Amino acid sequence: MPELQPYEIHAVRYAHNAAATRNENFLGGDPHDGPMPLDYFVWAIRGNARTIIVDTGFDPEMGRKRKRQFLRSPGEGLKCIGIDPSGIEDIIVSHMHYDHCGNYDLFPRARYHMQDTEMAYCTGRCMCHTTLRLPFEVEDVVAMVRKVFEGRVTFHDGDQEIAPGISVHKLGGHSKGLQVVRVWTRRGWTVLASDASHFYANMEQRRPFHLLHSVEDTLEGYRRLYELASDRANVLPGHDPLVLDRYPASAPGLEGISVRLDADPR
Ligand SMILES: [Zn+2]
Ligand SMILES: [Zn+2]
Repeated sequence: MPELQPYEIHAVRYAHNAAATRNENFLGGDPHDGPMPLDYFVWAIRGNARTIIVDTGFDPEMGRKRKRQFLRSPGEGLKCIGIDPSGIEDIIVSHMHYDHCGNYDLFPRARYHMQDTEMAYCTGRCMCHTTLRLPFEVEDVVAMVRKVFEGRVTFHDGDQEIAPGISVHKLGGHSKGLQVVRVWTRRGWTVLASDASHFYANMEQRRPFHLLHSVEDTLEGYRRLYELASDRANVLPGHDPLVLDRYPASAPGLEGISVRLDADPR
């Protein structure tokens, strides 16, 4: 892709769950139980005169309800790296779980990109089942339906280029219409897996996270993640605190707040 400049990718950390355990993080549990905390991120892709946000996170009220440690507003986190949320025009929603699609008033100018399947899933018959409904919040879903009626949602079905060097790919598995984002960076094709793999361990060990729609699609998704990336190390999991260790801060002083995922890992 010669005429295209590589994009930067930043992971902005906004919340934490210290109480999570290994037993909870793998389908079927883990014989060696122990703490295995989760971090919560929104991601920013910047370059070629555009900035695209991937997922919008939850707010303090949702943090209290779900017993997560809220660290900072995703909007404040983005401002730390020089991004004004009110000017953002494109947001990719990986899936509609509560920790990926809240804060819907933070981006007044944004158009939201999501998969047909995800909207059908979170408004359809599967939401009659408590187990499948658990990670969704009705107000998040209603807010997205309102955006559809405002003409602010672009639907995709499968693989789609969003801008040169940035594309979405439907994997399903964890949520029925989950999409991942492939980005051209200085180390080649890099993939934001979001919840297609919460931790490095899920995809590396082929052991799904316990919350899912389809085991088969989750496992096939791991294969697809590695296919889409130029290198296995270029697949970035959605909730793994390890990314903060492996990647440098976006700028001095932002350690633990924002890291550069397009940099070479340590
Ligand atoms: Zn999820
Ligand atoms: Zn998640």
